[in-house]
Order: sequence, then structure tokens, then C-alpha cells
Amino acid sequence: MNENLAKTDLKNLTQEKLVQFVESLGQPAFRGRQILAWIYRPGITEFEQMTDLAKEFRAILAKTAFMSRFDEVMVERSRDGAVKFAFRLVDGQIIESVMIPEEDRNTLCVSSQVGCAMGCRFCMTGTMGFRRNLSTAEIINQVCAVRDWALAHGQPPLTNIVFMGMGEPLANFDNLLDAISILTEQRGLDFSNRRITVSTCGLVPQMRELGDRTDVNLAVSLHAANDAVRTSMMPINKRYPIAELIETCRTYRQKRRKRIMFEYTLLDGVNDADADAIQLAELLRPVPCKINLLAVNPAGDASVRSPSNERVLAFQKILRDQGYTVFIRTSRGEDISAACGQLAGQGWVDAKVEKKENAVNP
Ligand code: SF4
Repeated sequence: MNENLAKTDLKNLTQEKLVQFVESLGQPAFRGRQILAWIYRPGITEFEQMTDLAKEFRAILAKTAFMSRFDEVMVERSRDGAVKFAFRLVDGQIIESVMIPEEDRNTLCVSSQVGCAMGCRFCMTGTMGFRRNLSTAEIINQVCAVRDWALAHGQPPLTNIVFMGMGEPLANFDNLLDAISILTEQRGLDFSNRRITVSTCGLVPQMRELGDRTDVNLAVSLHAANDAVRTSMMPINKRYPIAELIETCRTYRQKRRKRIMFEYTLLDGVNDADADAIQLAELLRPVPCKINLLAVNPAGDASVRSPSNERVLAFQKILRDQGYTVFIRTSRGEDISAACGQLAGQGWVDAKVEKKENAVNP
């Protein structure tokens, strides 16, 4: 029997919850803050290592709590420098994260669910269906494991976190908020809000709440400028049509002057015409924003084709001429199925995978 079943996983707890936990054990609040700082220090795996806690208290912690970590991880490196990690969860499910090193940053794309219920047409994760939400600890452990792996393998430290892996993060709202709290807490993983981006397919009520309760960046997967095309690509559009989505973006509460990032995946013959670009420019007029264009990856739906480079550039030019900041996002890690829309937990059984690294936490 798993001896941790009856214990509290401290990786699930924000600072506030950790304080409540130690108080329930008869300890003062500051012990909770002290423990938080220990938990997220690289190399700390046992309560024994928390040397400024009394020995008796450490023994109580060992009986009542544990600190989960990912012990089994599959690592696959792309030719372009992206690294895909597949983690096996305690119930045997597999999730994936992708590290994308660039000149001035090192971004980790994390998963928030096993599978996804949203069923976007161009996305492999969507074809898996929804299996379950990740716990806060399972979100956070992706970051801890990759941070430690990067440290052990001479890679630059992680600088940015994007919730663009498997799942719709806003559909796992409470665990997402707790994970953001641990990520941004100075004693936790100490990322700035500016360095964290949550991407959504457009869950309107949760978007509003995210703006009210956090100060992280928001990215919205838009992918079409009218309801007919968007609904054909993204079933969520039936529940929250474009007008409602754009109005939510227009009134989105941001503490600092920030712009929403709209993601627009171009599909040949579906949403990549000049007329689509003009309609998009009109649609986004009321929202301070930036636009990311991405040619679709050939995943999920065999009838989906990628547009030519010339088409992507022409689409960008129309938007730029209308005054928008428009990036063309080059997909990273396509050769290892780590690119956008390709994460589906296949890595574990893929014959290409040669390397199984157990010691991600050196
Ligand atoms: Fe889910 Fe995102 Fe894939 Fe849509 S694109 S099915 S929201 S993981």
C-alpha cells in the first residue's frame, strides 16, 4: 500500500494553506513560511534536510506529510533545441511538458489536465478526450523536475512559464490559481507574474475571474474572426461566441498596462485568406493586444493543411498595415511531437525514445 495515501502532499499547498497546515499541528504560522522556502530549494527531498526545524517537528512532518516529485520521466530532445518531458503520474497517466530555450529566455510549456474536453479540431490533446484535472502538485512538479533537469544538464534556468501544454487551464481553475500562487511566491518558485502566461480557448467566466484574482498574462486562442469558422474549429465557440469573448477581452482587468495575446493558427483554405485578416483586424480593434500567427501542425485531423510561408507573411502584412503588433511563431519541437497541438502522451511508447532518465532531481 502507498504509505503516502493518508498524508498531506505539501506540494499541493500555497503559502496560506501551508500556514494553516502547520497551525493544525500546533506550530506558529512562520513555520509554514519556513517550510515553503525549503520545499522549493533544489535538492531538498526529505524533511531531515530542513535543519532549522526542531527534530521533533521534523518527525511529526514525516508522519503526516510528504513532498511529491516526479521520479519517472522520459526526456526527448528536438533538433531545434526544444526538449520534451513525459512524466508518469501515480495513477499511470502520462503528461508532457516542453522546454523551449531561446536566446534571451528559457520557457517551459506546462500541462494542466490529462487530455482535454474542448475538442479543438487541430489539436492532438483534444483527440484524447478529457481524463482528469492535474492537482496543484502535478502542475508544480513539472516545473520543479525541469528546473532540476536543466540545472543538472548545464541548461539555462527557466525564465518563463506558459500554460499551453495539455488541457484547458481555466477548466482546472482552483488548482491553476494555487499553482500560480506557488510559482509567484518569493519563497516558492519565485517567478514574476510578467513571466507567466495562461492560455485559454475562451472560457469567459473563468477569464473574468482570472483577471480579478491574478496578474499573469493572458493568451486567447482565437483562430478565426467569425463564428461560423470558429465554431467549425473550436466547439467552445457555441457556448461563448466571438462577440462575448471579445467583449470579455476588452474589459479584462489587468493591473498593469498589458496587452492580451491572441493566438491565431492558420489553416490552409479555412481561415488564412486576405478577407480573414481584414475581418480579424476589425474584430480586434477595441482590444489592446498582440497577435501570434502560427501555421498549423499536421496533427489531429488529416484534412488540415498548413498554409505556405508566403500566405502567412501576406496575412501578417495585412494586420501590420492596420497597426497591429504581429509575430509569426515558429513551432518548436515538431520532430519529437512537442510542437503546439501535438502533445498527447505518446512519447512513453514511442520507439524513437531512447533515453529514460529517472534521476531528474539530482
Ligand atoms: Fe484543449 Fe487547448 Fe487542445 Fe483546444 S487546443 S483541445 S483547449 S488542449
